[in-house]
Amino acid sequence: MEEKTNPVVSKTNPILSTRGLWFSYGEGKAALSNVTLDIPKGKKIVFLGPNGSGKSTLFLHFNGVHRPDKGEVLFDGQAVKYDAKSLARLRSDVSLVFQNPDDQIFSATVEEDVAFGPLNSGVERAEIEKRVDEALHMVGLEELAERPTQQLSFGQRKRVALAGALAMKPKVLVMDEPTAGLDPQMVHELLEMADELNHAGATVVISTHDVETAYEWADEVRAIHEGKIVFSGAPEEFFEREDMLLHEMGLTPPLVLSLNHSLHGLAGTPLKPYPRTLAEATHKAFPKEGRKTGRLIVRCVDITKEMIAPAAHERSGIYGAAARRMAQDGKLNVHYRFHALESGLMEAASGRDFVLYTDSSLCNLAEEKAKRLERNSGVKVPIEHTHGQN
Ligand code: ADP
Ligand code: MG
Repeated sequence: MEEKTNPVVSKTNPILSTRGLWFSYGEGKAALSNVTLDIPKGKKIVFLGPNGSGKSTLFLHFNGVHRPDKGEVLFDGQAVKYDAKSLARLRSDVSLVFQNPDDQIFSATVEEDVAFGPLNSGVERAEIEKRVDEALHMVGLEELAERPTQQLSFGQRKRVALAGALAMKPKVLVMDEPTAGLDPQMVHELLEMADELNHAGATVVISTHDVETAYEWADEVRAIHEGKIVFSGAPEEFFEREDMLLHEMGLTPPLVLSLNHSLHGLAGTPLKPYPRTLAEATHKAFPKEGRKTGRLIVRCVDITKEMIAPAAHERSGIYGAAARRMAQDGKLNVHYRFHALESGLMEAASGRDFVLYTDSSLCNLAEEKAKRLERNSGVKVPIEHTHGQN
C-alpha cells in the first residue's frame, strides 16, 4: 500500500527543487520571496494559489525562462546553469505548457509547431515524425495536423501547446493552469491524460485555483500566497487546516470534504479517513453489511482486436488515449467517455457491473483507485480482467 511521504523530508529524491529563490519584475515588490521547495519524482503535484500569487513566475523558473535574482533551481540534484547548452538540456527534461497558448504557438501549422521543440533540441527527423504523431494522437488532434494554427479555437490551441510539450518526452511536465478556459469534458480528458503520463513515469506539476481538481487529483499540494510557499503536503491536510489560510487565499474547501463534514455532523460518520471522491464520501456514510457490489470488468483494447460490447445490464466507459481513439473511430459505444474510472468505481460500488475499456498499461491504475476506495470507504469493488492481465 502506498504511504504518503512527507515532502519536506522526502525519501525519494526530488526531481526539481528551489532553494531560497527570490525574483522581482523590475523595481517592484518581489514576485517570489525565499521560495524553497522540492518536487518529488514520479508524483502529481498541484500548486494552488489565487491570481497574482506567483504561480506562473515560479513555473517560468522551472525550465529556466526566468533566472532567480537570488537562490537557485535544481534539476535532479544539480544546480541549473543558464548557458544555451544547459538550458536546451533542461528544457528537454522539463517541459512547460504556458498558461496562454498564444505565448507558446509560433509556427504556421499544427504539426510544425509540435515538431518545433524536438527539432530545436536536435532530435532526428524520423524520431520527430514519430513523436509528433504520438503527441497529436494523445491530444486528439491528428486530423488537424496540417491546419494553420491561426484557424484554431482556444481549446484546440491549448491542445497544440500541450502536444508540443509532450513531443519533448519530458521527465517533468509542468502545466500552468491547464484547465482554465476548458469545458468540463476537456478538463476530465486532460487530467486523465496527465494520469496516463504519470503512470508511465513522468512527474506532473500543474497550477490551478480550482480546489475540486486539486483535491481529487493531486498526490501533494503546494500552496502559494503573495510569492511565498505557505503549505506543502497532502491535499486533505491543506483543506482541513482550521486557521484562516484558506479564506485569506480566497479558496473554499472542496465539496467532497464539506459533504464529509455534513455526514459527520448528521450521521456520526467518522471524519477520517478523508474521502477524495464523491463515491468514497457516500459509501463511507452507509453501513456496508449486506450490500452487494458490482464488478469492474476491465477489457484491454490493445490486446484484443474484437471488442465485446457491454451487455444490456452493464454500464461502460473508456479510459486512456487508446480506448478514446477507438470510441472516436466508432468502434466502441459506451456510456462514459469522461471520468470513466471514477464513475465506474462509483457504479460498481452501488451494485452495478461496469465494463471499462482501457489500455493494459493502465490496469494497475484501476487497481490503485479501487484500493483507495476500499481504504477510504470500506467498499471493495472486485476487478475482473478479461484477458488475464496481472
Ligand atoms: P499567478 O500566476 O499566480 O497569477 P504571476 O506569477 O503571474 O501570478 O504574478 C505574480 C506577481 O508578479 C503579480 O504581482 C504580477 O502582477 C507580477 N507580474 C507577473 N508578470 C509580470 C510581468 N511580466 N511584469 C511585471 N509584473 C509581473
Ligand atoms: Mg498565472
